Amino acid sequence: MNLHLESYPKGTTGAASSGRRIEHMQVGRRFGMFPQATASQDGVDSQIQVWCSNDYLGMGQNPRVAEAMKAAIDNHGVGSGGSRNIGGTNQFHVLLEAELADLHGKEAALIFASGYTANDGALTVLAGTPKDTIVFSDARNHASIIDGIRHSGAEKYIYRHNDVAHLEELLAAAPADRPKLIAMESVHSMLGDIAPVAEISELASRYGATTYIDEVHAVGMYGPQGAGIAAREGLADKFTVVMGTLGKGYGVMGGYITGPAALIDTVRTLSRSFIFTTSLPPAIAAGALESVRHLRASEAERTALSENARLLHRLLGEAGIPCLSTDSHIVSALVGDSEACRRASEMLLDRHGIYVQSIASPDVPAGEELLRITPSPVHDPKDVENLAHVLGGIWKELDIATASDRHGA
Ligand code: PMP
Repeated sequence: MNLHLESYPKGTTGAASSGRRIEHMQVGRRFGMFPQATASQDGVDSQIQVWCSNDYLGMGQNPRVAEAMKAAIDNHGVGSGGSRNIGGTNQFHVLLEAELADLHGKEAALIFASGYTANDGALTVLAGTPKDTIVFSDARNHASIIDGIRHSGAEKYIYRHNDVAHLEELLAAAPADRPKLIAMESVHSMLGDIAPVAEISELASRYGATTYIDEVHAVGMYGPQGAGIAAREGLADKFTVVMGTLGKGYGVMGGYITGPAALIDTVRTLSRSFIFTTSLPPAIAAGALESVRHLRASEAERTALSENARLLHRLLGEAGIPCLSTDSHIVSALVGDSEACRRASEMLLDRHGIYVQSIASPDVPAGEELLRITPSPVHDPKDVENLAHVLGGIWKELDIATASDRHGA
């Protein structure tokens, strides 16, 4: 099997600048699920290991998911044939929404074409209903959250990232009689840290605020049955809306919100990004459904992911490489310089066949350039050791600040 999933033009950063095509994640030795890389054909580097995929659990290559998708294509064709409200609702959309609502312990769910359109579409409606809502938004929220709030036209206050005291200050200063909405991420996409969900949900109850939690980097990976961080902390019911993606931990594509039935109906009725677009193809919904069901029943992927993430954090720590957080599977090694970051990424690829994309502005602010490394269950622990070892060498060669340099030791 030759999966030509990534093809990069010349002229951009990291792997892209080499113009090499990268065979996707052919490192499935651990579970024996995937065929080994085949010999290089038509310029494809089949031996490259991908360490920056958001297919965090390898579900994008799970045979059961692939079979579900193939069967759906055979039985239902490749496209949905319309928008959800006009001919484009398939049985898999309905089943998937019921599954997601059940997963998060909510009354209802609504799926969108992507996590981006879910946040944008849902927050445009929710932050603007009722009209005098005040939104409290984390300073490091994802672009899709920011865009949704902007499109709502609501008054907005930004609290420092995960800073509960600052959030409380802003809530206390706002008029008591105005409706309030707090919008946040659980696992941060770039920093890999985890929001203080207990403190924030407590504040929300105290100030009567609605809560919207983006669990895009958590669903499938954390909590009972992969229901996310709020569920892991036993607090899913304290968050009015739990939002997620089907394109990362679940390995397919699509986004969703779950929450009270009346709220979901409001979004279904008003959200332009839900109404005015072709719905997900049945096969995508069928694959996502299989993936969600699989990860509700199976702990193996979550366990292997957390073991690999813990090992990588430990080994990078021993090599003196500063990581922004050790809370999650998102292992962000801070470089703090765009040129060094680009070079480190190139050296990993050119010398070691390891692909880690360098992350710079606009994904992170200037000065916070980083290598965002995402271990997965399909990496072998030996691969983790090798990555930490070669990264330690690159850190020295490029004279990048170590953890002790940064702490002034
Ligand atoms: N929210 C967050 C926090 C994200 O990081 C992303 C994508 N990186 C999205 C939403 C959008 O999800 P999707 O890729 O499914 O559009």
